[in-house]
Amino acid sequence: MFNKRVKIKELLAQEPQHQEVTVMGWVRTFRNNQFIALNDGSTNNNLQVVAELGRFDEALLRRITSSASLRVTGKIVPSLGKGQKMDLQAETIEILGDSDPDKYPIQLKNRPTLEYLREVAHFRFRTNTFAAVFRVRHALAFAVHKFFNEKGFVYLHTPIITASDAEGAGEMFRVTTLPVDGSAPRNEDNSINFREDFFGRSTNLTVSGQLEGELGATAFGEIYTFGPTFRAENSNTARHLAEFWMIEPEVAFNDLEDNANLAEEFIKYIIRYAMEHNREDLDFLSQRLAEEEKQLPQDKRSEMGLIEKLEFVINNQFERLTYTEAIEILRESNYNKKKKFQFPVTGWGMDLQSEHERYLVEKHFKKPVILMDYPKEIKAFYMRQNDDGKTVAAMDILAPGIGEIVGGSQREERLDKLTERMGEMDIPTEELWWYLDTRRFGTVPHAGFGLGFERMVQFVTGMGNIRDVIPFPRTPKSAEF
Ligand code: ATP
Ligand code: MN
Repeated sequence: MFNKRVKIKELLAQEPQHQEVTVMGWVRTFRNNQFIALNDGSTNNNLQVVAELGRFDEALLRRITSSASLRVTGKIVPSLGKGQKMDLQAETIEILGDSDPDKYPIQLKNRPTLEYLREVAHFRFRTNTFAAVFRVRHALAFAVHKFFNEKGFVYLHTPIITASDAEGAGEMFRVTTLPVDGSAPRNEDNSINFREDFFGRSTNLTVSGQLEGELGATAFGEIYTFGPTFRAENSNTARHLAEFWMIEPEVAFNDLEDNANLAEEFIKYIIRYAMEHNREDLDFLSQRLAEEEKQLPQDKRSEMGLIEKLEFVINNQFERLTYTEAIEILRESNYNKKKKFQFPVTGWGMDLQSEHERYLVEKHFKKPVILMDYPKEIKAFYMRQNDDGKTVAAMDILAPGIGEIVGGSQREERLDKLTERMGEMDIPTEELWWYLDTRRFGTVPHAGFGLGFERMVQFVTGMGNIRDVIPFPRTPKSAEF
């Protein structure tokens, strides 16, 4: 019975020809004891169901409340009303699940805020905004796999529980089965004895799949990962989550320039895919954003609408420059001279703050920027050392409104250079024996990057807070649902 259901999205694409259909969904509104706006999550457009006056019991009609679930059968006919081309003339209406409209936590009439909707995240998918965001998220995830599959990359599942702190990328969450009440086994120096722990050693949730990804790349040539990543960083920003998803391609026989080209092609491909397959949702989000921006003072509004911005990104080359060139631009900028930066640009060697990144992207170049060749002191040990002895072959991609969206590099494939740098940075070479083995047995030039999936979803949907683009966000002091 249930598989006879027609999805509202498919139905709305047809012409009304008195076809007999069965639809199921949730009531958005019920007007005049006659018109039901029914939504089934396939699209933000509702199907208008007409319950002809006198045809249905009063008792049944009373149970048609917003958020109740229904099964309706009937005929699709041309609509007499404006605003929709078809009505479903109901023949049978069955209440699948009642819902008390006064207790239902989302009152659409009062325009609930995004902050409030986070508290009722178990129902927020039933709002137009979140339905659109999460359908776009789906499209982007699908496009990620499609892109790499078409290029012949192998999808590698790297471990979620790891013993190595890949790169000191952030604070880690410990994974243990030892008791937390103080009775855990101790070493002689009173530290916890992790040899007694589940894995016989200290383990954590992964902060990146890169090091294992490199193992795959040096066998398959091209791999990508797409999995959850965890960072216990206490940064309560609109761009950081404690649990987020990362895509990490790693490619053998590649250098930094190839890597930048791949990242740019990849970003454009997945945006284009969403534009082609989820245009309706993006139009909705674009309009939503435009309305939100009307509340802002003129100088805080974006110059482009969401759709315009996405088209612009697809159709224009990303700007490429070195870290050294970026520092010069920032130092010479009026923002720096007028002390408008919270962190002044002091000179070469400093780490860029997000206000600097955003200045380059939003004020100076007005397009995505690929910054390359950073000072080695502010980058990870595995990045390939350039001949100048000062910089490494790193690249960050910065996007308007978001800042860093990709971090990547050409990797150091020379064993002596790599171990030397690890020594300087106090990275234990014994623990990473398996990583160093790839440099001992058939090492090759290779490069890769990590793209934070939620930042990408933020960019494409125009949502201001990263908590609103992952179904159930994990952030400091918050892990409900
Ligand atoms: P940031 O400076 O923004 O904290 P990062 O330098 O720590 O980023 P990387 O270690 O290079 O980031 O991670 C690769 C990508 O993962 C980043 O470019 C970003 O898109 C994403 N990312 C990093 N940390 C987070 C986080 N806490 N929540 C969501 N995405 C993140
Ligand atoms: Mn970080």
